Amino acid sequence: MSSIILETRDLSKQYKSQWALKHVNLRLQQRRIYGLIGKNGAGKTTLMRMIAGLGFPTGGSIFLFGKENRGDLEEEGKRIGSLIEEPALVAGMTAKENLHLQCLMKGIPNYEVEKELLELVGLQDTGKKKVKNFSLGMRQRLGIAATLIGNPELLMLDEPINGLDPTGVIEMRELIKKLNAYENKTILISSHNLPELYQVATDFIIIHEGEIREVLSHEELDERCKSYLSLEAVDVNRLATVLEEKLHTQNFQVMPDNSIKLFDCLDERERVGRVLHENDVIVTKMAVCGTSLEEYFMSVIGVKGENRDA
Ligand code: ADP
Repeated sequence: MSSIILETRDLSKQYKSQWALKHVNLRLQQRRIYGLIGKNGAGKTTLMRMIAGLGFPTGGSIFLFGKENRGDLEEEGKRIGSLIEEPALVAGMTAKENLHLQCLMKGIPNYEVEKELLELVGLQDTGKKKVKNFSLGMRQRLGIAATLIGNPELLMLDEPINGLDPTGVIEMRELIKKLNAYENKTILISSHNLPELYQVATDFIIIHEGEIREVLSHEELDERCKSYLSLEAVDVNRLATVLEEKLHTQNFQVMPDNSIKLFDCLDERERVGRVLHENDVIVTKMAVCGTSLEEYFMSVIGVKGENRDA
């Protein structure tokens, strides 16, 4: 059974007159990948900074691994690795030298660990190449290697995919999945792009104007975004009966406005139309509808999404 490794209760943060976080209540379960999705300025970085102990909340509390963090992150904080904003790397050093420096700073100099971490993030063959000549993706991966020093259980990565080229995006995605699947890390990763997070996250936290608007699993998101055939007819009861008896499907929903959402037969619209016609159903509308990930996100944060016709 999964256990809760992080909980926030009514977590709030005010900067002068601006509330960056408002009463955030979250519970993160072990070994999941949480996608924190919100527009720029939504409060993602602030939330991660508060959890990492890089700033003090105005109100509320944070429980890490079951213990309340009252401003001192000494013990429980070591179980978190975070990459928030730019990784602190020395441009004139190699990947290995940078990692060695980070290990020294954290008081864990260990040649084997450095080697393992470079292999884990795919930078073992960078040799004498200096970080200033690395691509952004390589720098990000080296930053992640540095956060892994001390073997933290929770990793927080703030917009790690932002600005990467397509190869960098794929490598980053694979690394995150690997850290979760083989290294058992729980990961909180932020982005302003839901389709991008969709590729990697198991759960989604939608944040807007400092408030958590929704937390949902990958399966729930799929359910909400799935395509369907929207049907309207003069007699909706007859329509439902024909769907069941002639098209042999019960995979539909009658909506409050008397339209029907049919989740089967999307590629067989002609057959559906013909069978309905042959069975005296007067169809007034038939359209393929669905909500894209972006539309769903916009609808949750209060901008109405639109159905798309096929
Ligand atoms: P995100 O990471 O989602 O882009 P942030 O957490 O950086 O959002 O910012 C949330 C809100 O808090 C924004 O309105 C931002 O302008 C404000 N904010 C963030 N940091 C500070 C700060 N140090 N001083 C004043 N306002 C800040």
